[in-house]
Amino acid sequence: MTTDFKALARAGVRTLAPYVPGKPVEELQRELGLERIIKLASNENPLGASPAVSEALQRVWKDVGRYPDGNGFALKAALSAFLDVPSECLTLGNGSNDVLELLARTFVDHDDEVVFSQHAFAVYPLVTQAVGGRPVVVPAQDYGHDLAAMAAAVTDRTRLMFIANPNNPTGTWVGRGALEQLLAAVPEQVIVVLDEAYFEYVEEADYPNGLTLLDRHPNLVVTRTFSKIFGLASLRVGYGVASATITDLLNRVRQPFNVNACAQAAAIAALRDNDFLAESRRVNREGMRQLAEGLRTLNLSAIPSVGNFITFHVDDAARIYDQLLRRGIIVRPVASYDIPDGLRVTIGTAQENRVFLRALEEILAGH
Ligand SMILES: *Cc1c(COP(=O)(O)O)cnc(C)c1O
Repeated sequence: MTTDFKALARAGVRTLAPYVPGKPVEELQRELGLERIIKLASNENPLGASPAVSEALQRVWKDVGRYPDGNGFALKAALSAFLDVPSECLTLGNGSNDVLELLARTFVDHDDEVVFSQHAFAVYPLVTQAVGGRPVVVPAQDYGHDLAAMAAAVTDRTRLMFIANPNNPTGTWVGRGALEQLLAAVPEQVIVVLDEAYFEYVEEADYPNGLTLLDRHPNLVVTRTFSKIFGLASLRVGYGVASATITDLLNRVRQPFNVNACAQAAAIAALRDNDFLAESRRVNREGMRQLAEGLRTLNLSAIPSVGNFITFHVDDAARIYDQLLRRGIIVRPVASYDIPDGLRVTIGTAQENRVFLRALEEILAGH
């Protein structure tokens, strides 16, 4: 082999670090031969999904030989009613990550700039560099987005701005006033993507619902997902809400059958189960209290979070991550997010949280 294929890849891809997901349960089982594993690494819903979802999936099986509805008519109709937005403003994605990528492929040309925050979600640099765009990383303020600095980072070359509200892995969030100020400051030619993957978890009074800002800001795109509170992470389904014009553009580059039939049927069923949502929120609220308190008791400082996860600081994150793994507990190191002393833990069930806290206590005590 004499050809250097790496040199053939576009420059952005050559310098790209692949996304590192939370360690899968089966992988740790293979490695350590452990029976019981607690995975608190990927912000999944510890309750799984609504029982209505498995019923819906049973009904889809008989049709797996057929292509799914490429336009997702039924799911868009259900979302349209659920969110009170027109169907023509909805883009379905293979996870909301798919929608984030569609946005980059639609709007970002070679050397165009994409603005996002330090410590922000890993997919933003990924989709930016994959299309040859230039990431403009704005320093965070107390781990949160500095919206004034982000607005100031906009240049003639800026095409996109990503705002995660709340952000993963920090759990930090921006209030309505700050967001409105940013939208007023950013020129309309810059597409502002408001990533609301954890929207349904947030209970703060001043937390803005991005959908209410769409009318006044035609450059705004709001993305949400079924992977988090709805518990459908493995099915891959998310969506974007934007003007009909932007939605039409995204639809041109979208793969024809990007959301499979199981995902569509499951998402429709999930939207109907309000009780499951309320219960998920309750478990998360109580689990967040339990973990925050437990970490405080261990004298560990944590970044205040409104999501279903919390990032805390430890002296030797890699070692503690490893020792937790040995005890069958998977959390997420966040060194790649520029938080070298951080570990992110997803809020689990009360029992899972208890086991995690006890293990952490033992490890810190040197047992
Ligand atoms: C989990 C997450 C998503 C959602 O990813 P999916 O592709 O919908 O599973 C999007 N943005 C952020 C910030 C996330 O943490």
